[in-house]
Amino acid sequence: MSSREPGGRAFDPDLFAHVLYIDGQWRGAADGGTRDIINPADGSVVAVIDEAGPEDARAAVAAARRAFDAAAPWRSTTAADRVAICDRIADLLERDRDEIARIETLDTGKTLRESHIDIDDVVSVFRYYARLGAVSADRVIDVNDPSIISRVVHEPVGVCVLIAPWNYPLLQIVWKIAPALVAGCTMVLKPSEVTPLSTIKLMHLMVEAGVPPGVANLVQGAGSVIGDALTDNHDVDLISFTGGYVTGTHIAAVAAPHVSKVALELGGKNPHIVFADANFEAAVDAVVTGVFLHSGQVCSSGTRLIVEESIADRFVDAASERAQRIRFGDGMDPTSETGPLVSEQHRDKVEAYVALGISEGATLVTGGQRPTDPKYAAGSFYPPTIFDNCTRDMRIVQEETFGPILTVERFTTEAQAIELGNDTDYGLAAAVRTGDPGRGERVARALRHGTVWVNDFGVYTAAAEWGGFGRSGNGRELGPSGLAEYQEAKHIWTNTEPAEMGWFTT
Ligand code: NDP
Repeated sequence: MSSREPGGRAFDPDLFAHVLYIDGQWRGAADGGTRDIINPADGSVVAVIDEAGPEDARAAVAAARRAFDAAAPWRSTTAADRVAICDRIADLLERDRDEIARIETLDTGKTLRESHIDIDDVVSVFRYYARLGAVSADRVIDVNDPSIISRVVHEPVGVCVLIAPWNYPLLQIVWKIAPALVAGCTMVLKPSEVTPLSTIKLMHLMVEAGVPPGVANLVQGAGSVIGDALTDNHDVDLISFTGGYVTGTHIAAVAAPHVSKVALELGGKNPHIVFADANFEAAVDAVVTGVFLHSGQVCSSGTRLIVEESIADRFVDAASERAQRIRFGDGMDPTSETGPLVSEQHRDKVEAYVALGISEGATLVTGGQRPTDPKYAAGSFYPPTIFDNCTRDMRIVQEETFGPILTVERFTTEAQAIELGNDTDYGLAAAVRTGDPGRGERVARALRHGTVWVNDFGVYTAAAEWGGFGRSGNGRELGPSGLAEYQEAKHIWTNTEPAEMGWFTT
């Protein structure tokens, strides 16, 4: 077992003794299955945890259904009770911030600094929904008849299955949990089999904060094994999924016969457009940060540099020079600026994309092969990689590599920059850098992406919606829309002076 703190434990090992949480009980898998959780920085086993099978997954959904339908259900608690629980969870996350950061870093490979930022973001999301949930969105409609009361109330959508990916395990699941709790839904949490540890810790905190039995349930297990038991399930009212396009569309298909609502947050292939009048140094810094942070394993990573021809050569040289200076290493080492890829399998996938880029005729500027220094031998590291002279039809330009790979295309006019920026099946995020505020606004409005940063990159706030156009998804998380996703609007029309309707007269 890995215990990465000199002279101390990285986390309380009792946390992971039994890790399925169903109907208020911590338990193992019905078939006794387990899985080793691997630290991608050195290949060591961080924890051995229970791994659910389909029977456990169905039991978790059934528990959430009972908790929603019960005589004294969660949904009839007051909004004040529910937002108080969200605030308590935020307090507990702050209390255990360092332990959770270590867990997240050992599990995902990201640096401790990034893990701490993730936890602070997660706290802000719980606090935001606690504030939003305290204010009713119900409406009274004026129908100009004193005998009629017409109002729209918002009720919880029901049993939710919340499925998260491995790149931001805690962050992505909390974007779902916080609004679902506030809305009064019950839920089953399904983290990625690769990175489940921070979600297990969070489940402990939710129990400590007072989330009642059955309201939140947790299953760990391979999506390919338990996924259909969770999603092809008539007891489920809503599935909120963050992950890849192939998995997302499979889920939408199996959920369709049940008419379960399906919210999809999928991938991205995000353009970073740089005009010649932008602040050069700031633009180079933002492009390098935007694509190489977390070794490119970010759905909104700025993997596609679209740069004005007149500065392109100088820009690529500067970005390459910066990229080569990035210190990658074990995320627990405070001198590391970015960590390894999440697994050996994922590194194989990234390497295959590098080979593809070369075979398609792109010019490899830097990176492009595994590090040879023996200190990286046991981890799944891959260096920042830049391809110049790319064209829009290349697969390396169009497909999500989810690794530290930047492709470079050039433009000469604003219209061309916009056309290239929109030439994608995805539409998650984009950025434009320019010294001309008018152009910044024009380009931002013209880009068909869910988030556009002007002279900035990668920032978000819990109060603003996040989601994608096109194949990047069909829902919105965060902001008021993120809460609406977990609510059904119901119109109640009350006639206070009932009389015969007078339609049929005989
Ligand atoms: P996957 O689609 O492989 O997996 C996502 C989640 O789905 C995991 O928990 C996985 O479980 C689960 N899963 C797999 N198969 C099924 C199934 N048949 N039924 C139900 N659940 C299943 O994506 P990755 O984990 O590889 O994540 C990377 C992807 O996520 C990228 O495309 C990235 O862009 C996207 N993403 C999008 C974000 C956004 O905000 N739009 C944010 C972050 C990531 P398991 O891992 O156990 O197999």
